[in-house]
Amino acid sequence: MYMVTIDAEKCEGCGECVDACPAAILEMVDGKAVVTGSETDCMGCETCVVTCPHGAPQVQEL
Ligand code: SF4
Ligand code: SF4
Repeated sequence: MYMVTIDAEKCEGCGECVDACPAAILEMVDGKAVVTGSETDCMGCETCVVTCPHGAPQVQEL
């Protein structure tokens, strides 16, 4: 199981991680990417990590 967190301080609101996440668990809320889906659906693919130009998403294996 994986846990994804997005650092709101670093997020610039481009929305790229939201479009790129294959599990569709990320959404834009008030101009920031947040995890709105079930965290257990995260595949740990790190697509959000590599897509983000600002290093905001972090994925941890639990
Ligand atoms: S690691 Fe992959 S599945 Fe998990 S939130 Fe990031 S893009 Fe989505
Ligand atoms: S790719 Fe990075 S900067 Fe863009 S919305 Fe996602 S977390 Fe924010």
